[in-house]
Amino acid sequence: MLRRPRLQHLLPLSAPVALLGLATYASWTPDVAGRTVTAALASLGAATAITAFAFAMDAARVRRAFAHLRRGGGAFALFDSGRVQRREQQQHETVTQLRRQVEQLSAIRDLALIANDDVSLAPILERALTVLGGLLDAREIVIFLADGPERDALVAVAHRVGERTRVSAEGDLALEPREARRALDARRTVVEPSRGGLRAAALLVAEGEVMGALEVRLAPPPAGTPAQDPLELARMLEGLAKHIALAIRKPALYDRAVLDGLTGLYTKRHFLELAQQHMAQRRRRGTPLSLIIIDIDHFKRVNDVHGHVAGDAVLAEVARRLRGAIRGYDQAFRFGGEEMIILAPDTALEDAAALAERLRKKIRQEPVKAGEVEIPVTASFGVAELDPDAMKDPAAFIEAADQHLYAAKRNGRDQVRSALNPVEPAPVEAAPAAPAESEAPAVDAPAGGGLTTSVKTKRARRPRKKAEPALDAVGEAA
Ligand code: GH3
Ligand code: MG
Ligand code: MG
Repeated sequence: MLRRPRLQHLLPLSAPVALLGLATYASWTPDVAGRTVTAALASLGAATAITAFAFAMDAARVRRAFAHLRRGGGAFALFDSGRVQRREQQQHETVTQLRRQVEQLSAIRDLALIANDDVSLAPILERALTVLGGLLDAREIVIFLADGPERDALVAVAHRVGERTRVSAEGDLALEPREARRALDARRTVVEPSRGGLRAAALLVAEGEVMGALEVRLAPPPAGTPAQDPLELARMLEGLAKHIALAIRKPALYDRAVLDGLTGLYTKRHFLELAQQHMAQRRRRGTPLSLIIIDIDHFKRVNDVHGHVAGDAVLAEVARRLRGAIRGYDQAFRFGGEEMIILAPDTALEDAAALAERLRKKIRQEPVKAGEVEIPVTASFGVAELDPDAMKDPAAFIEAADQHLYAAKRNGRDQVRSALNPVEPAPVEAAPAAPAESEAPAVDAPAGGGLTTSVKTKRARRPRKKAEPALDAVGEAA
């Protein structure tokens, strides 16, 4: 690269030299040689001053011209007063703007493709965040879904900060909507300045229905680049939001149809469909299939002592613990009131029992906070592996696991039972006056089981009889 001499730094030096010359000239008795020397000194001083001054004046312009050349501009600009540079600056901005539009269009195309590829919400959200993150120079991006009976609550389902993304199709990211809240209340896009950057939210609307909102926080632009135009940002967000809404509409509707509102677990109806599919697959491929049935212990008492709201909170929390502890290909269902089922494909009995044991510990691990109170919770588990010859339909499969759940209840609750650790058959029910259940402490029941201790009056659940198959209720409910 060309190195320019920095002659402007001579400027402070030139003045003393010139002064020295003049002073010498004035004070000497001049002879010809002396006069020549002093005149030369004075001229040198003056010339240095003029050169340095010229360089100082020109330095900024020369710098601009070199920068312009480096950007690939024409050499003419070196001699130009600035017009050419301004024109090229404008062209530069136009190119930047066009490039941004191309990026936007390609992002929209990516979002449209996502909608075609995926049917489940989480991967769609994940990919949408990646596309948005690549397009917007955003500090933070949040996608909220409208929730609640009036569809006026907003739950965060996807969050991106820098390169980090978190997605929860159940909406438990616990982020407060801010601009998104205002956008939903006002039913329009919101953009406003914030600490040098912008905060904005646009509604996710698909086919006239508000699905949620997209909220972004943009950092201040780097020095030397123009600030983002709020109107342009609003237009861009609306375009993106429309496509995100279309992408999530299908899975969101689907999830709403098959997910239980309180627990976020799949519904009974969905269990029926999936169980049949898995059972058919088991027959075809011979891979093992197991089922775990779970019933919260003494749940009626939670309702009686703490009220139904606390009961609901316990139910939701137990479901959350289950969801968090199963593997991706296991599926959890709310089967009835406080009964839940896990379907574990490709899982033989031993592994299913071990999974159930893990779930049992997870549930009792710590009490559930419901408002001010902490409620200890335990559950009982029955596990069965599908025997395709003996169990022809989902009802028979559940029945098999249910027998073991009954045994677990009878044997003291808060335990896992399966064909691997069967309990002696229930004692024959005595005369009506006598309570049927003897709640002898379980041989392997853990001590101090919260709600499991000290209740003697309640009858253990009856195993479902063939005459009232477990799935009687399935068809009607859900
Ligand atoms: P056990 O240990 O024998 O299972 O005792 P239990 O009290 O849990 O007995 P059971 O399973 O028969 O009782 C279930 C109770 O769960 C009855 C009902 O009041 C309550 N329940 C069912 N669905 C809900 C619900 O959605 N919310 C609340 N709060 N309670 C529910
Ligand atoms: Mg029950
Ligand atoms: Mg129960």
